[in-house]
Amino acid sequence: MYNVPADFINEKKIWEVLEAHKVADAVKVKEVLAKAAEMKGLSMDDVAVLTGISDPELIKELFNTANKVKETIYGKRLVLFAPLYISNLCANECLYCAFRATNKAIVRNALTQEQIAREVQILINQGHKRILMVAGESYPTRGFQYVLDSIKTIYGVKSEHGEIRRVNVNVAPLKTEEFKALKSEGIGTYQIFQETYHRETYSKVHIGGKKKDYNWRGWSLHRAMEAGIDDVGIGILFGLFDYRFEILAMMQHIRELEEKFGIGPHTISVPRLEPATGSDLASHPPFAVSDIDFRKIVAILRLAVPYTGIIMSTRETAKMRRETFALGVSQISAGSRTNPGGYNSETEDDISGQFSLGDHRPLDEVISDVASMGYIPSFCTACYRLGRTGQDFMDLAKPGDIKLHCAPNALSSFMEYLHNYASPKTKTVGIKLIQDSIDSMSGLVKQRAIKLVNRVEQGKDDVYC
Ligand code: SAM
Ligand code: SF4
Repeated sequence: MYNVPADFINEKKIWEVLEAHKVADAVKVKEVLAKAAEMKGLSMDDVAVLTGISDPELIKELFNTANKVKETIYGKRLVLFAPLYISNLCANECLYCAFRATNKAIVRNALTQEQIAREVQILINQGHKRILMVAGESYPTRGFQYVLDSIKTIYGVKSEHGEIRRVNVNVAPLKTEEFKALKSEGIGTYQIFQETYHRETYSKVHIGGKKKDYNWRGWSLHRAMEAGIDDVGIGILFGLFDYRFEILAMMQHIRELEEKFGIGPHTISVPRLEPATGSDLASHPPFAVSDIDFRKIVAILRLAVPYTGIIMSTRETAKMRRETFALGVSQISAGSRTNPGGYNSETEDDISGQFSLGDHRPLDEVISDVASMGYIPSFCTACYRLGRTGQDFMDLAKPGDIKLHCAPNALSSFMEYLHNYASPKTKTVGIKLIQDSIDSMSGLVKQRAIKLVNRVEQGKDDVYC
C-alpha cells in the first residue's frame, strides 16, 4: 500500500502561493499577525505572507506575536530529553550524513543490549526521563527485532530514583505491521523527517539505499497512524532547499494528516544542516539558512500550528537555543551525544557522531541556564502514561485546559530533578523558580501545584496529575 506518488505534496501549488505573496505588504502582514494571535493556526497563503517579511519592524512584530502565542499556550515550560543513538550502521547514501553506507571515516558500532542498558543507566543518573532512540537504517543480526529489543531494554532499566518513562523513536520508515509492533512496545512519539519535500533535491541528495524512495518516506506517517500510533513527529533538514518552499510543503503534509486522520503531528523538528565527517554537502549547505531566517522559521511555525510542539536540538548553539525559547520552542535535548556509546565515554567524539554539535553543555548546566531565564525545565511524561495522546491530547490542548495538568506536572517533575540529581547551584536557582511560579498561580492550578511539589519534597518520586 502507498506505493504511489505522495501527491499531497503539490509543488506547483506551493510555487503559485509563493509567487502570489512574493513581496510582503505591511498591511497584509499585520492582518495575518492579528489572525495568528487568535491561535487558530494559519493557511498556506498566510504562511507565505510571513515568509516574505524582511523589514526589521515587521520581524519584531512577528517575534512578539509568536512569543505571546507560545506563552499563552505553553507558559514557561520547556520539556527536556536526551537522544540515544543505538547504532550507526546504515545502508543508505544520504550525502549530508556521516552514517551513510560508503563513509569509511567513522567507526561503525551497533550497541549490544548490555551496552544500551549502560547508556540508559548513565542518562537516568543524570536525571533524564525521556529518551529519543535513534538509529541508522540497517540493523545487526536480529533485523527490525533489534529496534524492538532496544526499546524493551530502555524501559527495563531501573536506577535508585528513576527510570526512563517515555521512549520516542526516530528510525527509518516501517511497514504497517512493523509500526504495530513498535506501538505495542509502548513508544511515545514516532518521528521521521522528510528532510526535503522538494522531489528533485530529494533525488540529488539521497543516492543509494531504500531512502531514495521519496514516496515510501512521504507516506510513512500515514502507515504509522493506520497502525495506531497517534503521536507522530515531522521535520525538515534546513539547508537542502529553499526554506520557504519547505515550510509550505510541510503545511500541506500537516493538513493532509489532519484531513485523513483527524489529527496533525505532535511535534515538529527544525534541524539545520551541520558539518558531518566525510560530507562536503553538510559543510556547504546549498540553501544555508541564516540565523535571522532560522528564528523566523520557528516563529512562523509557532503561529501556523500553535498546538504542535517544536523541538530544538543541540545542533544549535546555546545562544540560538536561548533565543528560540521565546519564539515557540517547547522541547529541547540536552547533554547529547550522537555517536553510539557516547554517554559511556570520557571524551566527546564529534568525528564518529552523526554531525557536529553546537551546544556541548551537560544537562545540569543547561537546566541551570534555562531556569535562570525563568523557564521551567519539565521532565513530565504524564499525558502519554495516562493515555492523553493523539486526539485526546489535542482536545485538551486546544482550549488551553492542558495547562491545568502541565503547569503542576512541570513543577513536580522539576522538583524531582532538583531533589535527586541537581548540583547545589542549580538547586538554589530551581527552588526559587518553583516558589515564584507557585506564587504567580491561582485557583485549582495553584492547589494542584502545591500538593504535587509537597509530595516530592517529602521524598515521593513520579507524582503527576
Ligand atoms: N536513519 C533514520 C533516517 O534517516 O530517517 C533515522 C535517524 S537519522 C540518524 C536522524 C536525522 O538526522 C535525519 O532525519 C536527518 O534529518 C538528521 N541529520 C542527518 N545528517 C545531518 C547533518 N549533517 N546535520 C544535521 N542533521 C542531520
Ligand atoms: Fe542513514 Fe539516516 Fe544518516 Fe541517511 S540520515 S545516512 S538514513 S542514518
